[in-house]
Amino acid sequence: MLNNSPVRVKPWEFGPLSTEEFGDEEKELVMRVLDKKRVFRFYDSGLEQSETRLLEDLYRERIGVKHCLAVNAGTSALIAALIGAGIGPGDEVIIPAYTYIATASAVLVARAVPVIVEVDDSLTMDPKAFESAITPYTKAVIPVHMRGVPSRMDEIMEISRRHQLIVIEDVAQANGGSYKGKPLGSIGHAGCFSFQQFKLITAGEGGMVATQDDKIFARCSVYHDSAFAYWGDNMKNNYEAFPGENFRMSELNAAVGLAQSRRINGLVSKLQNVKNRIVDGIQDLSQIQLQSIPDPQGDVSYSLIFYLPTIEQSKKFSALLSHEGIPNGTIDNNGFADRHIYKNWTYVMEKRGASVHDNPWNCASYKGNVEYSADMCPTTINLLSRAIAIGLHQNMTEEDCDDVITAIRKVASRQ
Ligand SMILES: *Cc1c(COP(=O)(O)O)cnc(C)c1O
Repeated sequence: MLNNSPVRVKPWEFGPLSTEEFGDEEKELVMRVLDKKRVFRFYDSGLEQSETRLLEDLYRERIGVKHCLAVNAGTSALIAALIGAGIGPGDEVIIPAYTYIATASAVLVARAVPVIVEVDDSLTMDPKAFESAITPYTKAVIPVHMRGVPSRMDEIMEISRRHQLIVIEDVAQANGGSYKGKPLGSIGHAGCFSFQQFKLITAGEGGMVATQDDKIFARCSVYHDSAFAYWGDNMKNNYEAFPGENFRMSELNAAVGLAQSRRINGLVSKLQNVKNRIVDGIQDLSQIQLQSIPDPQGDVSYSLIFYLPTIEQSKKFSALLSHEGIPNGTIDNNGFADRHIYKNWTYVMEKRGASVHDNPWNCASYKGNVEYSADMCPTTINLLSRAIAIGLHQNMTEEDCDDVITAIRKVASRQ
């Protein structure tokens, strides 16, 4: 007998992972900033009590790197890291076909040319596609740890060493993750974090560059503040001055980010428990194929993804799962132009710069010839069209997890 009443009738009410955690600690730390009347991180009185500095200290320690620089956004972190590493006009930077458009934009803002390569069934950069895309102009690669899943860093680092490329990890979606015991963001030459509301940890807005490299750190610092080299202790460090932006983080943002970041380990282990329980309950199913995870222990675990054999089956599965009361989505067939998928990055596809005279593809120093088209990464599009994603949450109870398991099993049994 077919049971048509949904597995779950209870509403699914889980807010963003980050802001759901807002509580007394955020309020206290923000009030502390207001009480101190000190919102500029470099304000000379009370410099040693800077919240931004505390946030950098926390990340330095947690990631285990020599330097961390807080900035005002994840995009800024990527731009500063690229410029910091000396990437610029004439250079190509390899990025995966599945990442937020900001990764591509940061490369272009640094006046370099993004080269887009396939992801594999982990939905992170396919190392073979990366190696095949290397040209004499390639200077850097940006592996992106999408949806909390670590990229295949052993392979990516090995290829990069052989070709002497700079590796900048985009950790915007994977704060708290690791790969073979190493915190994400500590493996490449630089790691870039975002503290925007939809990430695991928010600061309102914000970002962080983590690096072991003194020169990258010095150049990031100079770039993140147009007068950085000219004042205070920085003079002693003999930083080489060059034009920069204002990417500084405000103390108010840092206070929020600090309160949030102090709980990151607990948050990640709650998410891992949730995901492990669900995966245990569905991994025997032959009708679905679970996303491959390069290091399951390092998965931040807020996203459950599995594939159906065909696009049609995936659409049907997704609709049935929704009917069972479990919110989910196919990644590429959601009825809108998701800017996480390369074919929807229109200004990249059309090679449009900020103006006709400010266009990294047409600049005199660029000798390469990269081409883009909507069908250039068929494997990525195929995987994303067959993928079903369910957003997980730290507040999911065992009962909530079991609803997900029961619903997936019920729908699978009808395949
Ligand atoms: C969010 C995001 C960014 C940009 O971070 P912002 O803080 O919004 O500038 C970069 N890369 C990826 C993969 C992201 O998800």
